[in-house]
Order: sequence, then structure tokens, then C-alpha cells
Amino acid sequence: MLVNGAVITGKGAAKGRTTEEIEQIRSILRGRFDDLNAEYETALAENHKLRLVEIGDAAGDDQADSGSKTAERDAATSLLRTLLDRRTQAEHAMQRLDDGTYGNCEGCSNPIPVERLEVFPSATSCVHCKSNRERRAS
Ligand SMILES: [Zn+2]
Repeated sequence: MLVNGAVITGKGAAKGRTTEEIEQIRSILRGRFDDLNAEYETALAENHKLRLVEIGDAAGDDQADSGSKTAERDAATSLLRTLLDRRTQAEHAMQRLDDGTYGNCEGCSNPIPVERLEVFPSATSCVHCKSNRERRAS
């Protein structure tokens, strides 16, 4: 066990991160994933309820009512999408942690500043590459 531990620590140190640090990050990411998962499940159930109410009420709706319901549904759908994105990102970051690529930018391979990872533990690209990608997307 001791020998194994030493080997793992050595490997971690070579990549600039100790086993303790990796475990700490992993537990943060897992906690985040679990939180997002719970939030997503709740939002999904709410969304489902909203749709059922909508179907049930549709016959008696006037214009204004159905307009506000559409807005409500759009907001619920975009919340679901956001939660799903974040959950996927947390999952992805955990995979990168296993691969040993966590903390390096997916775009330019440079290390992501620790300050950024502290604020966004599931970040997989540096600020520069992220804003580049967003500019391309929009
Ligand atoms: Zn980058």
C-alpha cells in the first residue's frame, strides 16, 4: 500500500498536482455534479407538471394566458438546458481528472490558472479560449 501510494504521489507531482489536491478537486466536482443532478431532476419534474397543466388547461385559455404560459415554459426549458450543460461539464471535468489532463486548457493546452479553477472547478478551457469559442458561436 505504501509503495502504491508513493507511486501515485510521484505521478501526481510530475503533473504539478498532488494526490491530495486531485482528491480534493474530485470531491468538489462530485459534490457539484450531485447538486446539479438533483436540481436537474427537480426542474425536470416541474417542467413535466407544467406541461400536464398546460395540456389540461389548453381548451379554456384566452390569448394572454397562453402567452404567459409559453414564456413560463421557455424559461423552464432554458433552465433545464443550463443545468444539463453544467452537469455534463462537471462530469467531463471528472473524466479529465482521471485522464490526468484536468487543469489544462482543451483549446491551447496551457495550464488553466488556479484562480479560475477555484471559481469554476469544472472549467476545461482558459478564459481566452472560452471567449474565442463564444465569439465564434454567436
Ligand atoms: Zn486556452
